[in-house]
Amino acid sequence: MARPENPALAAFLATLTDTVLFAQVLITRRGTAFDLRHVIDKEATDSVLELLPVESLRDLASHTQDGAFRPLKSAPNLRSGWRALPTSSQELMQALDHVYPGGLADWHAARQVPPPVTHYRDYVNRQTGMYRITQMLTDTQVRDAALAACHKDFCLKQRLWGGAELPPDATEEKSLIPCLEPCPILLEFARKSMRLEQEEKAAASVSQGDLETLRAALDLALAQSPDGGREADFGNPANPRRLRRLKLLVERWLAEVPEKDDKG
Ligand code: SF4
Repeated sequence: MARPENPALAAFLATLTDTVLFAQVLITRRGTAFDLRHVIDKEATDSVLELLPVESLRDLASHTQDGAFRPLKSAPNLRSGWRALPTSSQELMQALDHVYPGGLADWHAARQVPPPVTHYRDYVNRQTGMYRITQMLTDTQVRDAALAACHKDFCLKQRLWGGAELPPDATEEKSLIPCLEPCPILLEFARKSMRLEQEEKAAASVSQGDLETLRAALDLALAQSPDGGREADFGNPANPRRLRRLKLLVERWLAEVPEKDDKG
């Protein structure tokens, strides 16, 4: 007897007339089957791509091209050079769940009005132990932490949760996969942000020109995908999310510099 179709899968298939991009996975209908591949392999000849069984997609999604563990499956560093051919809609759901766990269910949930979102304050107010300090971030600090941690360079989920100074991500910036509540990586980054706020501050007085140089240096570093060690090692000062948070701080400091007389 045929299994009843999952409501999320049924709704997704109704939108899949030809090709759909699900984060970095390009899905193309082939009759009753499907062709899945990395979007950068869109134009690649089938024979140059490694044909993978659906069940091996979980392993594929676990590590980057360089072999590093991927703690965040929605990070934009999915390996390329492969294709998979689910032969049924059930297999398609399994394949997507291997690459983006829970992504299809969240996509379906986000179509509810209103979507079942847990915003930052509601989420951290439930935290105990070492994560309780995430409640102490101000609204501005929450904004900086989320804009840095959830930036599209690090995560392709469209963040639907927010805060008093933090609107949700714009649809076009991210992917079809929604983010309905802060994830463990965000929570850890918020904890580190609070720890950084609590540290002793240097009594530095920095000119506008030097702040502009610092901002330019951060832009250069971020453009070169700095090796900040493990993705969630926020103790590393070179961690890319820390660089992006610092850039937000520098931009705020620059905005606070009094207008200068234009004497050349
Ligand atoms: S909280 Fe941010 S980093 Fe985590 S999954 Fe959501 S959008 Fe991505």
